[in-house]
Amino acid sequence: MRAFNFCAGPASLPTSVLEQAQAELLDYQSSGVSIMEVSHRGDLFTSVLASAKARLRRLMQLPESHDILFMQGGATAQFSLIPSHFLHGVGAYINSGQWSIKAIEAAKRFGEVQVLASSEEANFSYMPTQASWDKLASNADYLHYTPNETIGGVRSPFVPEVEIPLIADFSSSILSETIDASKFDFIYAGAQKNIGPAGVVVVIVKRELLKTAKEQASPVFDYGKMLAADSMVNTPPTYSIYLADLVFKWLEEQGGVSAMEEINNQKASRLYSCIDDSGFYRNPVALSDRSRMNVPFILADDRLDATFLAESEAAGLKSLAGHRSVGGMRASLYNAMPLAGVNALTEFMRDFERRYG
Ligand SMILES: *Cc1c(COP(=O)(O)O)cnc(C)c1O
Repeated sequence: MRAFNFCAGPASLPTSVLEQAQAELLDYQSSGVSIMEVSHRGDLFTSVLASAKARLRRLMQLPESHDILFMQGGATAQFSLIPSHFLHGVGAYINSGQWSIKAIEAAKRFGEVQVLASSEEANFSYMPTQASWDKLASNADYLHYTPNETIGGVRSPFVPEVEIPLIADFSSSILSETIDASKFDFIYAGAQKNIGPAGVVVVIVKRELLKTAKEQASPVFDYGKMLAADSMVNTPPTYSIYLADLVFKWLEEQGGVSAMEEINNQKASRLYSCIDDSGFYRNPVALSDRSRMNVPFILADDRLDATFLAESEAAGLKSLAGHRSVGGMRASLYNAMPLAGVNALTEFMRDFERRYG
């Protein structure tokens, strides 16, 4: 019996994906070996890589101008690699939460940073509207923002409109809702939230942007060299890419990203209604900017937190503790979380409120 796992990352994977991986673990397509035991340059794995790229391209409707890279070092490595490639004059950033802060702090080591807007004074409870931003520096190289802040549970309801390259950390919301990828010059996402297991980070880059890139000391962290080598400057995390491909296949079977978006909206609105209709639970984020993937909430009395966590765990609802930096609770509702999981959670929450509220 599988539990409903609300972990923010590494996160829940579709059961059918794990079952297929299990079935193929010892003998992949009658090869007599596991996919994780074969050369990354052989036919078995290169077809997995090609399939993963093709499926992701279809799912996100990526324009031909954009390429896909599978890299290592997580989203955190990208925080440094982006300025190290593209920051010549000024890197512009929006500060909408803890992950934005990390990206900004990393960029400062590579040059000048302009923070156009920040919601820090309101404890990151909203996304600053573009009309409220400072004027972009005339020598800004790019604008970086975080469409979904995983810790604060804040989603940007708009895509920034800028004349310079737009870069976005989609780690916790990639493939959860449709986006117009052509508006972005660079998208990155650590896999362990909405794609697959940890160990790989997906980078989607507009080839044009690479013309402005500075050459890197390490070829495995050089976007141009990784692109030229089809993500195989060195051995890629083959098993993580294989699992990502299975997740992409599963997404196609579900009807693609727009079908997921519909279910994700239902899941999120069901949980937010449960929170808002109670006098016991509370979510601090502005209504228009609430995340559909990560829903933080607090109880009326934080002395009940430990009881809530112990009882929910016992009820098969796992990993509801909030991020260590903010406390409270957080339910992550990535693609692999079914509506039934949210129903079980809201039932548990109502029952808990009746008993302790
Ligand atoms: C989880 C997360 C990261 C960090 O990812 P790592 O793969 O651990 O480096 C960065 N940005 C966002 C938005 C995240 O949710």
